Amino acid sequence: MNTTTNPIARPRSVAHVYQGQATSDGAGVRLVRMLGTAQLPDLDPFLLLDAFGSDKPGDYLAGFPDHPHRGFETVTYMLDGRMRHRDNHGHQGLLGPGSVQWMSAGRGIVHSEMPEQVEGLMRGFQLWLNLPARDKMSPPRYQEYAADQIPVYAPSAGVRVKVIAGQLGDAKGVIEQPATDPLYLDIQLDAGAEIASPVPPGHSAFVHVYQGTAQVHGTRVAAGALAVLADGDAVRLQGGDGIARMLLIAGRPLREPVARHGPFVMNTEAELVQAFNDYRAGRF
Ligand code: FE
Repeated sequence: MNTTTNPIARPRSVAHVYQGQATSDGAGVRLVRMLGTAQLPDLDPFLLLDAFGSDKPGDYLAGFPDHPHRGFETVTYMLDGRMRHRDNHGHQGLLGPGSVQWMSAGRGIVHSEMPEQVEGLMRGFQLWLNLPARDKMSPPRYQEYAADQIPVYAPSAGVRVKVIAGQLGDAKGVIEQPATDPLYLDIQLDAGAEIASPVPPGHSAFVHVYQGTAQVHGTRVAAGALAVLADGDAVRLQGGDGIARMLLIAGRPLREPVARHGPFVMNTEAELVQAFNDYRAGRF
């Protein structure tokens, strides 16, 4: 399939463009929250997207010391720098440049995510993706891949796409998550280059431009903005004057009630209370 030239029956336009909010989290890591803000609290099944990127150690050195998660997935995608993660079940690893960690917290983990560097650029993203009620109390599960294990789709000059989850052309992503069937693409477009990516109809979808400027179905979106897409079967993306880099992320909505507080995302208030009690009692 040539995704760059096939006609799109129902192109996805931009429904709304949001700016990120500068904030800090963990023990004082400076980041920009793109999703999970007052303007854009969530986009079922997505709960949060944080973009971090700094070459000032003071912005990231504090890291994210021990904290719990239950009921959803955290997806860490590193562009630059190294992060060490360690959980209370004995799982640990080092996330290097270009790697992805897709962590299903399920019924609960306590982990730390700490920079394994004291200088240089640290840049990447963390996405929170909800789990359906039937999977919220599943055993924790990790899907971790180094940069060289992530398929690259490069159909034409000036187009380079890392396919982390979902499929684009002949490149199939490494992540398996049938509940939300996620698409997670890291797209680089040289000036004037373009690509059309299928996005399943009915799935929530957004584009976060993190470098340069891109046209999303004709709407100009600059670095630091997130464009929520209207429904359709594909989206057309074009580069701007220089190199543009962006994430295209989509997933099937769960359409379930969300009871959410901090690092716990359940379906009911009673389940939230249970999560707090289990955590305090050391049952994670
Ligand atoms: Fe965490």
